[in-house]
Amino acid sequence: MKRRRADSEVTAPPSSLALPIVSPLDQLDPVAAPRRRHAALGRLPAFARADKVRPHLDALLTHASPQQRLQGDPLELVHRYVDPLDQEWVGMLASAVAYGRVTLFKPRLSALLTSLGPHPSAWARSASPEAVMQAFAGFSYRMTGPGELAALAWATAQVQQRYGSVGALAAASLEASGGHWREALDRLVQTLWRVDLTPFVGQREPNRRLAHLLASPAGQSACKRLNLYCRWMVRGPDGVDLGLWPVPTRLLVIPLDTHVHRIAGFLGLTRRTDLSWRTAEEVTARLRRIDPDDPVRYDFALSHLGISGDCPSRRDLVHCRACPLQPVCRHWDARR
Ligand code: SF4
Repeated sequence: MKRRRADSEVTAPPSSLALPIVSPLDQLDPVAAPRRRHAALGRLPAFARADKVRPHLDALLTHASPQQRLQGDPLELVHRYVDPLDQEWVGMLASAVAYGRVTLFKPRLSALLTSLGPHPSAWARSASPEAVMQAFAGFSYRMTGPGELAALAWATAQVQQRYGSVGALAAASLEASGGHWREALDRLVQTLWRVDLTPFVGQREPNRRLAHLLASPAGQSACKRLNLYCRWMVRGPDGVDLGLWPVPTRLLVIPLDTHVHRIAGFLGLTRRTDLSWRTAEEVTARLRRIDPDDPVRYDFALSHLGISGDCPSRRDLVHCRACPLQPVCRHWDARR
């Protein structure tokens, strides 16, 4: 059994960087991780339309109630908890399975979380690997079986035990990376995956399914779900995102999925056709022209415009009339 932490440790704000505590998991050290130098975000591409697009994106933010949208979003699961450690632990799981249809994965994760009680992260930190595996036994969603989700839950709990919070690890990784956010994220992922996962997936290292569940930006992947998790944890608090981690919002990268990608294309935020990290950086760089300090502030509204089915991806008099982006959408620009 893992040592049960005192309540004061469990509920402490996850912002302190002072940490190495108790755990024998000395291998969980972002500073000791292999140093990879990623290019910084690079030169910002020109975006002459920034001033024109900004007011319409601002209008999109107020177009529908965020609280209403939240009901159809996995982030709502995180808002069910008040302890920051529970929020970041649940957020890790909820963002990791946020692929496919929210109506399919959210009820399954919701049922699992309910079965874990009101403080699931404290439970995970004190439970044995066998108990975690048993608790997750009934979970399954597409490519994610009980072993994969239990492994992620366990690794996240071990990082919280070692560093105080995942946010503290993120901040330490950022410092160790000299301020390069992409490298910091890679360190964060590598640190999580240095936990021994044998009880969950039969091998120490993450298997292919786990690498899909939590991808590192060291590759070409846009890492939509990792960037989504970071948006939830870093931005705000604003009623949607939680503002838990001591990381500057200006460093965040847009969680690029098919919805955000196609609407970004309509607005001239990118011409790239691939869902890659490079495309995510390009969209983010242009959004940074609109809001240098908080480039991903429009992500929630953009993604829900796509998820809701309100954007038909063509000139459509009925749907587009109500869309705040219509004056700057290329489907309408092209005919002027
Ligand atoms: S104007 Fe129409 S096509 Fe363009 S983003 Fe809005 S809903 Fe989509």
